Amino acid sequence: MLVSASDPLGGDRAVVVGGGSGIGASVSRHLSAAGARVAIIDLDPEAAAGVAGEIDGWSAAADVTDPAGVASAIDAAAEALGGLTLACNAAGTSSQSPLARWDPVEWSRLVSVNLHGIYHCMRAEVPHVLAAGGGAIVNVASVSAIRPAAGEGPYAAAKAGVIALSSSAALEYGPMVRVNCVSPGMIRTPMTEPIFAIWPDESARLEAATPMGRIGSPDDVAEVVYFLCSPMSRFVTGQNIVVDGGLTLHGGAIDGIFDRLFPA
Ligand code: NAP
Repeated sequence: MLVSASDPLGGDRAVVVGGGSGIGASVSRHLSAAGARVAIIDLDPEAAAGVAGEIDGWSAAADVTDPAGVASAIDAAAEALGGLTLACNAAGTSSQSPLARWDPVEWSRLVSVNLHGIYHCMRAEVPHVLAAGGGAIVNVASVSAIRPAAGEGPYAAAKAGVIALSSSAALEYGPMVRVNCVSPGMIRTPMTEPIFAIWPDESARLEAATPMGRIGSPDDVAEVVYFLCSPMSRFVTGQNIVVDGGLTLHGGAIDGIFDRLFPA
């Protein structure tokens, strides 16, 4: 089967949760450029509307930790687009602390946004994708899920949960719905920009530690999400694709940052 190069996702209808910023915004632009109609849901209504305005998309605000609220926004997106065939769940948040010093409220918030949020989204998306005759879901995990990440206990645990949840869903919903993950390494987005603002020398350290010789861009991740949404990945499901320029072949994005935040 040859995939049309001109309009590979023509006829697809996609929701991107966390699509107002960073990786999710780039995913929204890539899916739209490939011909899909795109709905953007984000905590920040103005950010969601801004990206939607660029790509003639639809937008709404919702908090992924609120199951009813995010389900209602996803239902409204499906209504506006005439169903859903694709979903990318990219909403996420992070912070760092030594394990014994986490405020339990902050611990729960990180697990709630990064793991429960993905569940709340998939729970609402799956019935729409099944109703449309099938499609693909891509969840954004992290390299912190697959290698030790000092200072990132709840984030790492939540992201590992996202990979497990995604592969379970792939078993349950194949062959109608393919479910995969991407795990970004260090990507320059509003989430990571404070690291480079506080410690400008982190750029050079990361560039030197990355076999591809640079820090990643949101487009580096979005193009892999696009692949996982497209018919080119039609025999790929239940997988986690690491997009890190090779960084975790011998280290991790957060290495050293914990020691700078919490010197012994
Ligand atoms: P980003 O630019 O901050 O984008 C994350 C988006 O998610 C923001 O628009 C944010 O809204 C939204 N969001 C946060 N909490 C939400 C909630 N409760 N409900 C709905 N939306 C919410 O960060 P990013 O780097 O693109 O991150 C995208 C995904 O990649 C995240 O899952 C992140 O964990 C993952 N990731 C990023 C990196 C990296 O190096 N950047 C590495 C590994 C994994 P607000 O701005 O209003 O908070």
